[in-house]
Amino acid sequence: MSCEEYDTLIHGYLDGELDLLNTLRVEAHLPECVSCARTHERHRALRSAMSSGKLYFKPPNRLAERIHVALDQANKAEGLAAPSVWEAPKTRPRRIWWPWMSIAATAVLVAMIAWRLGSVASRPSPDDLVVQEVLASHVRSLMANHLTDVPSSDQHTVKPWFDGKLDFSPPVKDLSGDGFPLVGGRLDYLEHRPVAALVYQRRKHFINLFIWPSAEDSKQKTEMRQGYNLFHWTQSGMTYWAMSDLNWTELQEFVRLVQGHDGRTP
Ligand SMILES: [Zn+2]
Repeated sequence: MSCEEYDTLIHGYLDGELDLLNTLRVEAHLPECVSCARTHERHRALRSAMSSGKLYFKPPNRLAERIHVALDQANKAEGLAAPSVWEAPKTRPRRIWWPWMSIAATAVLVAMIAWRLGSVASRPSPDDLVVQEVLASHVRSLMANHLTDVPSSDQHTVKPWFDGKLDFSPPVKDLSGDGFPLVGGRLDYLEHRPVAALVYQRRKHFINLFIWPSAEDSKQKTEMRQGYNLFHWTQSGMTYWAMSDLNWTELQEFVRLVQGHDGRTP
């Protein structure tokens, strides 16, 4: 990603509008790039200056009255019909402010309706939210250098490691004979619950396989998201999400091996 693209992201970052993945990207980039760090600092300073309230000026109460008096005098001096005597502010607000208030209220209402419609239309589906979480978790595991909690290629080390850390026992298989060596396991947190993340490797590519129990027998799903391939399926009461930058064909081969491991045909 170029610094120009980061420049755009920084605005969203400061407004807290970025998704987790882009937030992590910005947070990883800022310490590494002097120019973007400066941009970030500049926008941040501007934001806090604008929200500090020092730019807001409240006119003195008598200002309106003084303007009316001055207008009356000017009108009289030019021989124009002066408007009726300036009324005390207490009796005027109803007449002056109601139309404006109703216009403002209508504008607010229209804005709220537009916002509601927009947010309903752009609201991601529950599955979409899981995909976002899985993607963010995958990227974070690679970026934060926290791929595994238990680095081991031995399924008999990795599987018992999850005991007591999860309320289920994830199926762990070493697929090194098939060219997908097990790298280790990790505890992760997705969909508001702790889940198992198994890490496999194919050449330089890492595969995160997320597993947790699921009651629903959901459809299989495969898609590409931000350059990563994703496979999702449920099997024997567990939901599986496999994500990697590995090419689609090889990742599908991996998925078949995992699926075949408890004697089922994919
Ligand atoms: Zn930069």
